[in-house]
Amino acid sequence: MERTLVLIKPDAVQRNLVGDITQRFERKGLKLVGLKLIQLDSKILKEHYAHLLDKPFYPGTEKFMQSSPVVAQCWEGFEAVEVVRQMCGVTNSRKALPGTIRGDFGISVQCNLVHASDSLDTAKKEVPRFFAVNEVLNYEKMGPEYLYAPDEK
Ligand code: UDP
Ligand code: MG
Repeated sequence: MERTLVLIKPDAVQRNLVGDITQRFERKGLKLVGLKLIQLDSKILKEHYAHLLDKPFYPGTEKFMQSSPVVAQCWEGFEAVEVVRQMCGVTNSRKALPGTIRGDFGISVQCNLVHASDSLDTAKKEVPRFFAVNEVLNYEKMGPEYLYAPDEK
């Protein structure tokens, strides 16, 4: 099963949307295996957004991402990386489709509510960036036979 990183961003925390966003992933059938409220600093953001450091908007993004705590989550499921990205919608919330988190709750590019790993390779780097090994838990959940076919593992 894949694991992917979600950050519920400062705008969503401040707008009391942590529960709504978390509920969407739960209802989808994803399994929550890591969860914490954290205050990000410049160091971890420069690592996390290394691909954006030379963009003109990066200083604004870094400031925004430190403006309040964020909720870091690790979700597990079959093809979880792609499933979560689809549920978030495209980066620009104004263009994100209705039914997605950004499409339903946002109207901004910067304040777009959630971060989600963009590939399995990225997820494998991002989960350990935010969670120590013992903070991602292995446990059984009842009822997987009603979520997946036997070959979806
Ligand atoms: N961002 C921004 N302005 C831009 C592009 C991106 O403020 O023109 C912010 C936005 O919050 C976005 C984050 O930088 O979520 C990371 O950008 P990326 O291209 O990785 O988008 P994502 O993977 O989050 O959809
Ligand atoms: Mg990205």
